[in-house]
Amino acid sequence: MAKIRVTVWGENIHEHTHKAVKKVYPKGMHTCIADGLNEATDIKAITATLQQPEHGLTEKVLANTDVLTWWGHMGHHLVEDVIVSRVQRRVLEGMGLIVLHSGHYSKIFKRMMGTTCSLCWREAAEKERIWVCNPTHPITKGIDRFIEIPHTEMYGEPFGIPVPEEQIFITWFEGGEVFRSGNVWKRGNGKIFYFEPGHETFPIYFQKEIKLVLKNAVRYVCQQSIWKDGCPMITAEQTREKIGKK
Ligand code: ZN
Repeated sequence: MAKIRVTVWGENIHEHTHKAVKKVYPKGMHTCIADGLNEATDIKAITATLQQPEHGLTEKVLANTDVLTWWGHMGHHLVEDVIVSRVQRRVLEGMGLIVLHSGHYSKIFKRMMGTTCSLCWREAAEKERIWVCNPTHPITKGIDRFIEIPHTEMYGEPFGIPVPEEQIFITWFEGGEVFRSGNVWKRGNGKIFYFEPGHETFPIYFQKEIKLVLKNAVRYVCQQSIWKDGCPMITAEQTREKIGKK
């Protein structure tokens, strides 16, 4: 069986500018995420980064991508609009998109949602408990009632997103806030999953439950078919029944 082709996109800035992040992710966050996905025999993950020509997201790469994952934070504004439009088109055609953590403010996520995607936040190394909202959902397969992350950044409501079509997880933080931390939408022929964990100074993408959710999510949003839509005119001569004739 053909493997699911995943491109793991990483902004790849913090790893070079913040010592604490480099220490946690010496090979880059994108490499860690891809390594986790490649543990699965049905997934083949490669990486792409902001610094590459066309941010590593050429027409060819995207044409051969069933699922794109996106982690960005301080460099959202550096992503070229032409690449955002290219990714958007592929999502509408059917490519899956998984947006991670601070990717909530990425150009592509805001474009796909059409809303501000804002939230409230705090960096206090607090505990997070991610509750499963739907234990029968494929993205929660193998996860018990909740996942705990010992230390993380808080992301809290209100989260400026459209009402999720499927809410998979809801999170509680030690400080008391709650957050819709795992949500699915359909846009065109493509599925989008937003997953909140992944603050860069903690080893969250090494955690086995997080790696499992990402594998499950890849399988769930994976491109099933390609819909290259257009806007053709169908003339009266082309209709199946002749209009106005008995
Ligand atoms: Zn963060």
